[in-house]
Amino acid sequence: MEEILIKDIDIIDPKVNETAQMVITSKEEDTGKRKKLYIESYGCQMNFADSEVVTSIMQSNGYDTTSSFENADVVLLNTCSIRDKAEQTVRNRLGQFNNIKKRKPEMTIGVLGCMAERLKEKFLEEEKIVDIVAGPDAYRDLPQLVLSAEGGEKGVNTFLSREETYADIAPVRLNSNGVTAFISIMRGCDNMCSFCVVPFTRGRERSRDPYSIVNEAKDLFEKGYREVTLLGQNVDSYKWSPEENNKSWLEKKERKGESIQVINFANLIEMVAQVSPELRIRFSTSHPKDITDEVLYAMKKYDNLCKYIHLPAQSGNTRVLELMNRTYSREWYINRVDAIRKILGEECGISSDMIAGFCSETEEEHQDTLTLMDYVKYDFSYMFYYSERPGTLAAKKYEDDIPLATKKKRLQEIIDKQQEISLERNRLDIGKIHEVLIEGTSKRSDEQLQGRNTANKVVIFPRGNQQKGAYVKVKVNDCTAATLFGEVVS
Ligand code: SF4
Repeated sequence: MEEILIKDIDIIDPKVNETAQMVITSKEEDTGKRKKLYIESYGCQMNFADSEVVTSIMQSNGYDTTSSFENADVVLLNTCSIRDKAEQTVRNRLGQFNNIKKRKPEMTIGVLGCMAERLKEKFLEEEKIVDIVAGPDAYRDLPQLVLSAEGGEKGVNTFLSREETYADIAPVRLNSNGVTAFISIMRGCDNMCSFCVVPFTRGRERSRDPYSIVNEAKDLFEKGYREVTLLGQNVDSYKWSPEENNKSWLEKKERKGESIQVINFANLIEMVAQVSPELRIRFSTSHPKDITDEVLYAMKKYDNLCKYIHLPAQSGNTRVLELMNRTYSREWYINRVDAIRKILGEECGISSDMIAGFCSETEEEHQDTLTLMDYVKYDFSYMFYYSERPGTLAAKKYEDDIPLATKKKRLQEIIDKQQEISLERNRLDIGKIHEVLIEGTSKRSDEQLQGRNTANKVVIFPRGNQQKGAYVKVKVNDCTAATLFGEVVS
């Protein structure tokens, strides 16, 4: 098993572009619309949030969702391209649709997301069953692409936009627990980490209008949601200005020499935190190069800004970080962690992503990753071994020269280290009382409920007469590396 998630499996991977192979499917819905949509989402939360936008677009074009693809008129797979394995999973899945397509030739099958964007027309050549290929910025065009496909014309739209944020589209919450929801605040990424396909599959960075984000949070709160996660490939570079997002207006202002109002990420999280103290806010993914003390002090100011940061390190060695083009050193990363600990305290949850066996990584450099984990004491991490991706800088410039056995050995050492640290960190919580937002019934027993504390740790406790969506105080009396167990005290 090359990828391990050190948490209860039902906790969605917070990383917007890294994947634990999560598959989320559409739910059954009948509002009398004449056609049925079945949608399956692979990969990260950004893809999942996009599937909610796609469902909204299709709903306003005459589609209800269904949870069984046999009953669907249109089947859409929202794909991931972060590792070869993720793409293989999609190809295998398409293979499973062959029989139904033979029985139901009028069914339209489409592929969305990063793999669609990476392969473009080639997808139609390689997978004959596919009728539509639409990239992450082309979802408004889906109803038209479906109409053409129903007329026998296969379609591809993989245009990457510099403006598109789908800010005006109210996502349809799929598979929701009614308590937590995602809000995408920006799209694309301007970093060029050498191992990553995202800049090629999701395009240039653009930040969404903050007032539409606040309105979406208000709407969710009124509908009973009590936690939102703000999503972006690199939330710390969120920057919005009425001027900047409207070029011509910006030039007019500049000509007049007027100052430009810019809303950065610290400003945005304060705006969302002010929706209601009862609404928790999380965000993902942070970037060590850009996370500022201003963001940390904003988090300190509001109790409902959860004290948890997903801060991918990827490696603990500066030479390897340079090869990865992560644009920070080991020392810089440690400086950011020290700032988090100083401003938000030892209890603030920190998680990471680690890549084992990157091109030319030596045993000593691998040891640097393990010692960094000892220093930071991550609560959990997403850990992978390097999977070369076509078209990336690393694929062009570096040889993928670490033997698979060595990659797997190093990955296992990172996993064992994380398991050890997660257990140590969770043991520190025994005897403490945490405020937990109840998300639903635990997977372990109907007699138990589960939720998370501010540090994003899963807490399981006896149901009693507690309800989903409520905040409770839980005294922790036991733990595993992935979970805290306790009793409600108030
Ligand atoms: S920050 Fe790096 S790893 Fe993350 S999406 Fe951007 S390019 Fe990929």
